[in-house]
Amino acid sequence: MTEKINELLRCVEEFEPRTAAEVEEFRIRMTGKKGELNALMEEFRTVAPELKREVGQQLNRLKTAATERIAALRERMADAADGQSAPQEDLTRPGSADELGSRHPISLVKNQIVEVFARLGYTVADGPEIEDDWHVFSALNFPPEHPARDMQDTFFVEKNPDVLLRTHTSSIQVRTMERQKPPIRVICPGRVFRNEAISYRAHCIFHQIEGLYIDEGVSFADMKQSLLCFAKEIFGEQAAIRMRPSYFPFTEPSAEVDVSCNLCGGKGCAVCKGTGWLEIMGCGMVDPNVLKANGIDPEKYSGFAFGMGIERIAMLKYGVKDLRLYFENDVRFLHQFEEAL
Ligand SMILES: [Zn+2]
Repeated sequence: MTEKINELLRCVEEFEPRTAAEVEEFRIRMTGKKGELNALMEEFRTVAPELKREVGQQLNRLKTAATERIAALRERMADAADGQSAPQEDLTRPGSADELGSRHPISLVKNQIVEVFARLGYTVADGPEIEDDWHVFSALNFPPEHPARDMQDTFFVEKNPDVLLRTHTSSIQVRTMERQKPPIRVICPGRVFRNEAISYRAHCIFHQIEGLYIDEGVSFADMKQSLLCFAKEIFGEQAAIRMRPSYFPFTEPSAEVDVSCNLCGGKGCAVCKGTGWLEIMGCGMVDPNVLKANGIDPEKYSGFAFGMGIERIAMLKYGVKDLRLYFENDVRFLHQFEEAL
């Protein structure tokens, strides 16, 4: 019986079919119902008990070899059939060019803003997106009952002690004041999170850039001049700014900054809602309470802070009307900014 098994093993190894039909014929001969393997199984019953172990192993080896060989041959035949029916590659056709990516409009605008302030002597600071209550609210003079701390605005990771997603990049300014003594001149770009319904003009994730300048004798006039310089660099030499009184917990006095509408030249249009002005940022003189909370002597030092949404500046600069476009990453939208590189 061992002889027969060895003969069949050789047969399996040497079998070289030319067509799929030959493979099928071979399969029926070997593993079919009335095939060689089943015949051997039948014969195996008559093998003497002391030889059963050895012959059984040989039989198993043959069975595995036959099934594996047949499967491999079938695959080879199927591949060959595919190759014949597939159209021949046209080697004279020009190759497909690699597509170049472009910078996201948010990155473009962020880089431009950073570059303007870098020329004014600001350095870039960074901080974590997951923050604690102190760096986002308490150190910035938010009273305990301030609505911004409410669940409606803030994404909390944990309560008591509070761990949350930062709602503004001012937390980076607090971290900067912790490690650095005045003079401080930093610009803090980053992603922020607020629990808002997503629409064409609001999103739960957006980007801010905030700036902080602290030194001896810093005045409101310094702030106004710096921000005017910024507006002219971003919106063009003809840009003018105006300031309206406002309120933020961390600055006193505080102001909203408008830039003259560059679409209508100040005459009034749909984008500026007929006013000739577009709101671009908030700013103010750093509240003495904030300086005190961060270990800076408010008698000796003063400073100003400002903050703006990068999406908002990009919308005004490029005339984008729907905020959601920035997050959908539709290449038809993104391709339009290739030239801005
Ligand atoms: Zn206008």
